[in-house]
Amino acid sequence: MLRKSIIGIVCLLSTLAIAEEGMYPMSDLNRVDLKQIGFQLTANQIFNPDSISITDAIINIGGCTGSFISPQGLILTNHHCAFGAIQQASSTEHDYLTNGFHAKSKTEEFPAKGYTVRITESYRDVSSQILEAVSGDRDFAARTKIKDKKIKEIIAQAEKENPGMRVEISEMFPGRTYMLFMYTYLKDVRLVYAPPIGIGNFGGEEDNWVWPRHTGDFSIMRAYVGPDGKAADYNTANVPYAPRVFLKIDKQGVQENEFAFILGYPGRTYRHTTSHYLDYEESVRMPWIVDWYGYQIEQMETMSKTDRGVAIKLSDRIKGLANTYKNYQGKLQGLRRLDLVEARRQEEAKLQAFIKSDSARQAQYGNLLNEFAAYYQDLHKTSERDMLLDALQRSSALLQTAGTLYQASIELPKPDLERESAYMTRNLDRTKQQLQLILEDYYQPADRLFLGIMMGKLYDLPASLQPHVLRILPGKDKLPDFLDKAFKKSNLHDPKWVMAHFGSSTAELLKTRDPFILLARDLDQDYQMLRELRRARSGRLEQLLAQYVDVKQAYKGESFIPDANSTLRLTYGHIRGYSPRDALYSAPFTTVRGIIEKHTGKDPYQTTDALRAAYAAENFGEYINPALGQVPVDILYDMDTTGGNSGSPVLNAKGDLIGLNFDRAFEATINDYAWSTLYSRSIGVDVRFILWVLDKLSGAEDLLHEMGVK
Ligand code: ASP
Repeated sequence: MLRKSIIGIVCLLSTLAIAEEGMYPMSDLNRVDLKQIGFQLTANQIFNPDSISITDAIINIGGCTGSFISPQGLILTNHHCAFGAIQQASSTEHDYLTNGFHAKSKTEEFPAKGYTVRITESYRDVSSQILEAVSGDRDFAARTKIKDKKIKEIIAQAEKENPGMRVEISEMFPGRTYMLFMYTYLKDVRLVYAPPIGIGNFGGEEDNWVWPRHTGDFSIMRAYVGPDGKAADYNTANVPYAPRVFLKIDKQGVQENEFAFILGYPGRTYRHTTSHYLDYEESVRMPWIVDWYGYQIEQMETMSKTDRGVAIKLSDRIKGLANTYKNYQGKLQGLRRLDLVEARRQEEAKLQAFIKSDSARQAQYGNLLNEFAAYYQDLHKTSERDMLLDALQRSSALLQTAGTLYQASIELPKPDLERESAYMTRNLDRTKQQLQLILEDYYQPADRLFLGIMMGKLYDLPASLQPHVLRILPGKDKLPDFLDKAFKKSNLHDPKWVMAHFGSSTAELLKTRDPFILLARDLDQDYQMLRELRRARSGRLEQLLAQYVDVKQAYKGESFIPDANSTLRLTYGHIRGYSPRDALYSAPFTTVRGIIEKHTGKDPYQTTDALRAAYAAENFGEYINPALGQVPVDILYDMDTTGGNSGSPVLNAKGDLIGLNFDRAFEATINDYAWSTLYSRSIGVDVRFILWVLDKLSGAEDLLHEMGVK
């Protein structure tokens, strides 16, 4: 008995010891001893550009992750990732957002406009080509321009040599390491299944970024290709995509402490940055965004209250803002609680001492941290204006549309490689589609209100920061009248008008005298100035960051894993609870009983009648977690994830699907800056809950058959 428990403790300690930070790029898999960690797969079975491997099933879908789960291109991802598509499909007559969506046949599947799928095929290091191009003495803005152009050239060449592939170059370490990724790129994606909101978004924003959690944040989509098997735009003649690999679902799920891993496309982390950056985020940028987003959310929620049509129109925007709003609050709390800026300053003091201890090093890096400080001081000086100009354009669908039309008129006459990326031939369809989607959600009262506020704030800037446009616009007191007239007269709310004018020359656009086009023209000088300023800043920052990583690696005596950048990564760990605060312990599973306990009948704690009935009747089928005697809902684990990992499959040692990642605990929002074994916990839906909902609540036999589960 004693022996057994000692073995138990040793096992627990050894698994605890190997929970570690790391979003490993495929190129870094050789850093870890997969077998020793707990994988029953080799690196080649995980990623193999020359043959079939699990990663063939892992896709980037519209900024989230998803995975193929059937031979006919079924994709499992999050409800919040498919939210835009569910919203597009919904109307007051067919309120799929509220009631859920289930296409009973392929012809009923709903085209998810704007969604694309990327599958990683291969990668190669192109750093030397890029760094060579930017070498030599140049000003920083010129460096950035040359770098961007070189990247575009390499991409164009690689896409020419590999017809049908989408090529992207990702900065692994700014100013230092660049990887070229080759992607299969699919453009016809359809919505197949979404649970009702009372499951898919149960707990809403109150529970977002929170553990314990009871959200069934999953949805099912399908990728299509042309009859010739090649990527094609939406067409009813298209056929389901046959992935090289699809994930097997393990109905048994997982148990506490079990090993698991995640493959996905984490968006952005900022771990290889200095205290100056964290300080800027904490004291300048994030509080500003929290204020502005909080206000917009409140206003749009009020506008949504009495009209379901308006609520549907605004839902995607509210959800996006609210997600960032709460994430930033978590980060701000974490930064303060952990005093992260101070902790990083102390690390930097040690780094500075290391630099000083060697005269050659001192000569090369002695001033590096001061230069970072100067960089952020400079950023701070214009931040109020820069943030305003960014927010101004995003505050209004009409101004954004006008800005895009106007910019297109300037960019399109240029040679392709010299255009801003969004206007290059390879991106043009997407840019146009994006405009159409923005206009579909256009709601005049929100547009007018937010634009008025942002423009008003321009007038309040100190004289030295006031943008050029204020020399053209009427005085602040005339602004309301000016905007009312502009909204009344503009044609930009009409997608047909907009598409007909996309690609018109600047002169033709100005001839329309549309007030928003004229406003976009008047703002153009300010946005040009901002772009140029940012090119210069980005050139400077890249150089500093490259040196910082160099010297920090020398100091630590090890090489680092690059920050997340939306490229394919692997992270591993265990199903594990944690202690969010002193004396509190959170277990790693929630169950359906918890949904029933939380259900109040009022949003956001309003689950479905079907769920309550199935619970009351104990209609659990084979989906119970035997250790809990309940159907599990969500699981918690110590893997290293961030935004973009939403929709990532959670896999067991053999690579079978046992969960679906969708969020992090509140304390783990700080992951983006620093990872900790103690508080970094991510949240997924237990596969048994997904199957239970499909089987017992939705009667989705067709999908279960297709997934090979029934
Ligand atoms: N729920 C998150 C997101 O919205 C996922 C995460 O950041 O962990 O991206």
